[in-house]
Amino acid sequence: MVWCGDVVEKFSVRSFKRLLNVSSLVIPEHVFVWNKWVPLKVGFIAWRAVLNRLPTFVELAKKNVSVGSLLCPVCEAEVESVDHLFISCGLAQTVWSFISQWCKVPLIYAFSVRDLVELYKYSSFPKDKAKVFHAVCLVSVWCIWKKRNALVHNGTPVRVTDLVEEIKAMSFLWIKNRSKKSGLLWEDWCKFRI
Ligand SMILES: [Zn+2]
Repeated sequence: MVWCGDVVEKFSVRSFKRLLNVSSLVIPEHVFVWNKWVPLKVGFIAWRAVLNRLPTFVELAKKNVSVGSLLCPVCEAEVESVDHLFISCGLAQTVWSFISQWCKVPLIYAFSVRDLVELYKYSSFPKDKAKVFHAVCLVSVWCIWKKRNALVHNGTPVRVTDLVEEIKAMSFLWIKNRSKKSGLLWEDWCKFRI
């Protein structure tokens, strides 16, 4: 078998990501930064959110998929777009408020999902800690999407306390195992002492 996405005809995640970016219908104004301390599936959801390619109700309706109400399944206050779900929804605001307190960064204001995944660039953390914070933001986007899907597809109610605990726990496990921080302790993690 030959991988046609690279001149060397050998499959690699790097060449796959490059191909995805190149094949985008929108010429990317920036290159999405992936983070090896979280699984690819986590970065993939954030990447799709940045490019507005997640199947939210608004996007499905644009493709003439019948979804009934376009209202956000979580708050039912606005139509469900990517920006609503990850930024202006009450659930998202609670999550980002929690992240800012936990990670000790100024209150998070974002106008797009791209702003959320680039927050780390504007933090005052040293490089390594900024990468951890980046991973936490990616995991947050992934967890919001996962909870939203559980609600839409299985009717599982979204509890914000469960959501933030899952963000903390999943990011801890992944960072501890995937970075060189195997000695990271849960007590320190809960205070974002890296
Ligand atoms: Zn909402």
